[in-house]
Amino acid sequence: MQYVTGQMKAFKSIIEFQNHFNTEEKCREYLEEQRWNGTPACPHCGSENVCRFATNNRIFKCREKGCRQKFSVTVGTIYENSKLPLTKWFLATYILSVHSKGISSLQLATWLGITQKSAWHLNHRIRQMLTNSASELLTGICEVDETYVGGKESNKHLNKRSANKYRNDSKTMVFGAVERGGKVKTKVIPQTNIENITNSIQEFIAPDSIMVSDEHHAYNRVKHLYEHKTVNHGRKEYVRQDVILVHTNNIEGYWNILKKQINGIHHFVSPKHLQRYCDESAFRFNSREIQQDERFANAISNCEGRLQYKELTNG
Ligand SMILES: [Zn+2]
Repeated sequence: MQYVTGQMKAFKSIIEFQNHFNTEEKCREYLEEQRWNGTPACPHCGSENVCRFATNNRIFKCREKGCRQKFSVTVGTIYENSKLPLTKWFLATYILSVHSKGISSLQLATWLGITQKSAWHLNHRIRQMLTNSASELLTGICEVDETYVGGKESNKHLNKRSANKYRNDSKTMVFGAVERGGKVKTKVIPQTNIENITNSIQEFIAPDSIMVSDEHHAYNRVKHLYEHKTVNHGRKEYVRQDVILVHTNNIEGYWNILKKQINGIHHFVSPKHLQRYCDESAFRFNSREIQQDERFANAISNCEGRLQYKELTNG
C-alpha cells in the first residue's frame, strides 16, 4: 500500500484508525513512506544507495563503501529501541494530535494496556513531536499577553490566592502571541522579567507588524519595533476602535483553551515539563483548520530524534 501525505484514508473515529493501523507491518509501511517519501536513505551516512533484505523486508543495508550498515525505518527516530509496538505509538500519536484536549497518562495507560509510567513517557515523547507547529514569524495583527499556569490554586486558603496576575509565586509564567486568524506561539518564562518578555516578542513577531497588548510596561520596551496598540484593562477597557479593533480577546481565548487542557486533563504539571504541554496545545490550535489525518501525518513527520526517559526525569 502506498501512502501520500494528505491523501491518506480519512478516519472517522479512533476505532477506524485502530482497525487500519492494526499490524506492525502496516505502521512500518506508512512510516517508510512518510520518512523517506519512497526513497529509503541510510540514517548513518545519508546515502540512498541502499537495498532491502529479501529475507527480512524490515531491514535495509547500506551499499556505501565505508558504511555498509544495516538499518530499519525506526533507526534514528523516536521509535528506536522502544519496547512498545508501533501500533500503540501510532494510536497514542493519533489521540494526542487529534483529540481536542489531549489525554492524561492514566487514561492513555488504560487505552493502550500499558503502565502509567510507560504512558507518561510515551506522552512526553509524542509531545516532543508536536513542537514547531508554527515555525515562521507571526505577522499582521498580533496579540500578545502573559498568563500563569500550574500550581494548585483551589487548594490554597482564600487570602493566599493571588489577586494580581503579576504577583504569583506558585505558578509559572507563559508568554504568548497569536496572529489574528493565524497561529499561536508560547514560551514558558522562568522569571517575570522584562528581558524575557521582550526577547520572546522579537522571537515570535516579525518587525513592522501591529502588536496589540494590555498596559503591561514590558511591551513598551519594544514599541519602536512594532506599531503598538494597547487596551487598558486596569481601567476596564477591553475593546477600543482605532485603525483596527484593539483588543486581546484571541490570545485570552487561547489561554482558556490551554488552561482547560492543562488543569482539566493533567491537574498538575511541573514547570520543568510545562513547555511541552504548551507545545502540544499549540500544535492542536495551529492545525485546527487541517484534516485530522494530515495532523497525524505532520506529527509523525517529526519522528526524527529521541527523548530518553533519563532526559525527562533528570535535572
Ligand atoms: Zn550508510
